[in-house]
Amino acid sequence: MPQKPIAAPATDHPLTNALTVDVEDYFQVSAMAPHIDRASWDSRPCRVERNVERLLDLFEQHDARATFFTLGWVAERYPGLIREIVARGHELASHGYGHLRASEQRPQEFRQDLLRAKGVLEDTGGCAVVGYRAPSFSIGHGNLWAFDVLLETGHRYSSSVYPVQHDHYGMPDAPRFPYDARPGLIEIPVTTTRVFERNLPAGGGGYFRLAPYALSRWALRRVNRIDRRPAIFYFHPWEIDPAQPRVAGTSLKTRFRHYVNLDKTEARLGRLLRDFHWGRVDQVFGLRAS
Ligand SMILES: [Zn+2]
Repeated sequence: MPQKPIAAPATDHPLTNALTVDVEDYFQVSAMAPHIDRASWDSRPCRVERNVERLLDLFEQHDARATFFTLGWVAERYPGLIREIVARGHELASHGYGHLRASEQRPQEFRQDLLRAKGVLEDTGGCAVVGYRAPSFSIGHGNLWAFDVLLETGHRYSSSVYPVQHDHYGMPDAPRFPYDARPGLIEIPVTTTRVFERNLPAGGGGYFRLAPYALSRWALRRVNRIDRRPAIFYFHPWEIDPAQPRVAGTSLKTRFRHYVNLDKTEARLGRLLRDFHWGRVDQVFGLRAS
């Protein structure tokens, strides 16, 4: 795949890293999909609004800005929340409409999902939406056409690749740092650190909750100091919500990954916000919409 590297922004140390939130509810998580009928989404108790509100307050306490990759489905139901994200200085970006993996859609379906999400988000937020993150980092070798569709639908960047080995996602041989996926479309992979010729996840997800915080801090510092690059880190609103309803019928592995340390994550995020400088993707990577 094209791997033209993007030059690292000239920033003074310490670097500002990009903080990102995938705005979806606990019942929309890909690992839960086999156990939850989409038709039931509307009847489930929603937690996303209060969880995002808590995140907005937490970010404000630490003077951090972030990019919110938001589902069109969420924006339709909580327009006030979307306006608040924008009003509080954060970047509104797209996580698609209905949390469908890019790899499970045909190009025409993917295009429709992207356009529907972008339309809802831009109308609600009153701002341009130029960033996209595929559910479950589902752009890989089998569907690189997705980058063409992103470009055609008016996106300027994607953060849809996690260059790690994982059973549900990952493209371990992808570039670790931003690159031109297409002329006019930059892919900004979630951050990894390189140890013994392997990419270790350093950009959040279950790893952030499951492993000790010191490991995440070590990995992010390594990227800032050794690679001299800004990191891009992600998590979900449901990860700070230990009281979320439990989904029945899931495997032990899924339960472990989803529920472990939910009660510790908010405090851990606070440490992360204190220990590093955080900003929006479009600012950190110089992609601010004109
Ligand atoms: Zn997602």
